[in-house]
Amino acid sequence: KLENATIKAELGRSSWRLLHTMMARFPEKPTADDSLALKTYIQLFARLYPCGDCAAHFQKLLAKYPPQVSSRNAAAGWACFVHNEVNARLKKPLFDCNNIGDFYDCGCGDDDKKKKD
Ligand code: FAD
Repeated sequence: KLENATIKAELGRSSWRLLHTMMARFPEKPTADDSLALKTYIQLFARLYPCGDCAAHFQKLLAKYPPQVSSRNAAAGWACFVHNEVNARLKKPLFDCNNIGDFYDCGCGDDDKKKKD
């Protein structure tokens, strides 16, 4: 089958959005079980990502830069960093990871705030 770059890029955008939005909602103080769940999710995401060559590259990235799952900041910073590694390989502009804070909104209201307060 021929590669369809438009569909591949759309899958990438959707996947990055999901990944970064999950990080933005990850607990600031996760339990050991939360951290294990996120680490496992990322590893399975890398294994099952439906673009085979993307998955292979991403698995190598994970081996080099293991997922950081000790806090929301650590997880969001890690995801931004590895996305930038992919951007660099694809010759795309790099994202300023200091601006990751409010960039990813799940659109699901203020329940995260309520949990914190
Ligand atoms: P995307 O990279 O999809 O980013 C979407 C938006 O996220 C950007 O517009 C920007 O607002 C924001 N953003 C950009 N950088 C960051 C960052 N560092 N942190 C947070 N937000 C950011 N494509 C290939 O052709 N070959 C591959 O090997 C490949 N591997 C991939 C591996 C994975 C795990 C994923 C999820 C995708 C992969 N892709 C690959 C797809 C590729 O990364 C892009 O998603 C796709 O090319 C569309 O690019 P885009 O320019 O729309 O921006």
